Amino acid sequence: MEDCIFCKIINKEIPSSIIYEDENVIAFNDINPIAKIHILVVPKKHILDLTCVDSDETLNQINYAIKEITKTNGMDKDGFRVITNIGKNGGQAVPHLHFHVLGGEILPTR
Ligand code: 5GP
Ligand code: ZN
Repeated sequence: MEDCIFCKIINKEIPSSIIYEDENVIAFNDINPIAKIHILVVPKKHILDLTCVDSDETLNQINYAIKEITKTNGMDKDGFRVITNIGKNGGQAVPHLHFHVLGGEILPTR
């Protein structure tokens, strides 16, 4: 979708630190991390937010990617958080569905 920053990252029109990619999902480091590990897991299809998901397949694809990513950095053993924000009051700044995967210590706010 035009003017969507995450679609631009998906299309490699703007750079990001990609740590996982498959046919359906991309994951990259958050530009402004709030935890030692802060990865954004994003479906390649432009979907506004979690309430707009209309197929189990999309959720399975995201869950698969999260499991693959967390295997590579020990988070599968240590545990981690997954957060998705929805709408203005939910603190969603980027209107393209994404899951924050947070591991390790939470960083002090600046
Ligand atoms: P939201 O508040 O929408 O749930 O989270 C959006 C997240 O995207 C924020 O944590 C923000 O730091 C991150 N973000 C926004 N723009 C960019 C960008 O251009 N590159 C990367 N890597 N992260 C971004
Ligand atoms: Zn998008």
